[in-house]
Amino acid sequence: MDGPGALAGRYGPVPRNGEINTAFGVYKSLCCEYEIVVREGATFPQCPKHPNVPTVWNVLDIEIRPLRVTRKTNPDPPNR
Ligand SMILES: [Zn+2]
Repeated sequence: MDGPGALAGRYGPVPRNGEINTAFGVYKSLCCEYEIVVREGATFPQCPKHPNVPTVWNVLDIEIRPLRVTRKTNPDPPNR
């Protein structure tokens, strides 16, 4: 169901180049699906492949989880 408002993401208006990012995330350009990581407080860049047109960035729905560290079983257990 792509209505007229399909361009606006579910998080509100989509950011454009030159705007300040308010939330760390992975963003994808509408023009060629170029993916970038933009940290909070950074300015959205122009698409590197399309520097002459305004770039619209869509936030990607990602979840950053801490890595889970599993300890390997000791390959050489003390044998006494
Ligand atoms: Zn592009």
